[in-house]
Amino acid sequence: MKFETKAIRLQTAKSQHREHSTPIFPTSSFTYESAEQMRDVFAGDEEGNIYSRFTNPSVREFEMKMAALEETEDAVATASGMSAIFASFVSFLKCGDHLLVSRAVFGSTYKMMENYLQGFGIEYTFLNPSQGVEEWTEAVQENTKMLFLETPSNPGLHIYDLENISKWCKKHNLLLNVDNCFATPYLQKPASYGADIICHSATKFIDGQGRVLGGLVAGKKEIVEKVFNYVRSAGPSLSPFNAWVLSKSLETLAVRMDRHCENASKLASILQGHEEIEKVNYPFLESHPQYAIAKKQMSQGGAIVTFDLKKGLDGGRKFLNALQMLSLTANLGDTRSIASHPSSTTHRKLTEEERMELGISPGLIRISVGLEHIDDISSDILQALTNI
Ligand SMILES: *Cc1c(COP(=O)(O)O)cnc(C)c1O
Repeated sequence: MKFETKAIRLQTAKSQHREHSTPIFPTSSFTYESAEQMRDVFAGDEEGNIYSRFTNPSVREFEMKMAALEETEDAVATASGMSAIFASFVSFLKCGDHLLVSRAVFGSTYKMMENYLQGFGIEYTFLNPSQGVEEWTEAVQENTKMLFLETPSNPGLHIYDLENISKWCKKHNLLLNVDNCFATPYLQKPASYGADIICHSATKFIDGQGRVLGGLVAGKKEIVEKVFNYVRSAGPSLSPFNAWVLSKSLETLAVRMDRHCENASKLASILQGHEEIEKVNYPFLESHPQYAIAKKQMSQGGAIVTFDLKKGLDGGRKFLNALQMLSLTANLGDTRSIASHPSSTTHRKLTEEERMELGISPGLIRISVGLEHIDDISSDILQALTNI
């Protein structure tokens, strides 16, 4: 089956009611016909659910569909993107291990390293996106176990060459862990380039409508089993309700992403060369520094467009205030277009130098391009640009 068909047709086996749309299983535990059956299920001799912290049919459906779409052997869902990322670290790293992390990662990922991993005795080194794998080699230590990165990165839209980096990881015996949140499996399949672990914040484009939090880790069976054992013991499990919402959302992922990308691509062209804008960033614009890599590993450019305002920090603040339709909110990957100003919000605690390394200039605006009509999205942005 093709991507769209899998996203729509894979679902939990029909119940005795012969429902058409996928059912939801909001139950914390499951029952047994007899003491013997209960014993066998607990022993793993008979397949069956026990408790929804471990498995639940709604959650399992979402996991199975995501694994099919990422073309990995299996997947395990979590309550949020951050718990997926955390689970992907603590399932493979122990006290005394060393982790390499792209500096261009989501703000909370950054904070998790500094505030928690360090306390567990897990060492890490941040890698600058402007350097190539040759320069990263110096950072590899005897105890280095994993490389974690995002591509495209949030909000710098840096694109990492997955094929190249995967080869480098294999050479150094490192697990390659990729946050595929911005691209979704519809635009990019990291496993096809050799990534071992794929993390998702399902909160973004997978839900796509700003309703629920969710996360997921995908990969080979033995990888997912380790993460599953952690989730089952520690409990950052996805709720059946959220899983049901996310599974239904996958049915429309392809059509939504097509329109998101079409709108984003049009918006990037409209804004290019605007007198208030220094530079427009979009992976599929020829002016993007990693345009060739983006074209190689992504089928479309994604839904995030950023631009640097010539008027800097103050211009950024005025731009947000001048918007009439776009939402000012922390989320992204919604049907509704969203504007944010990383320098004064998500990345305000970094030094100017650190921000520049991540491609975050004082006047950088991030637009998560939604599914409204492109004319309405662009005219709101254009009118705001005349009022800064
Ligand atoms: C939002 C986001 C996360 C965190 O996901 P939550 O669902 O908010 O926990 C991780 N990575 C990226 C790239 C994100 O955009």
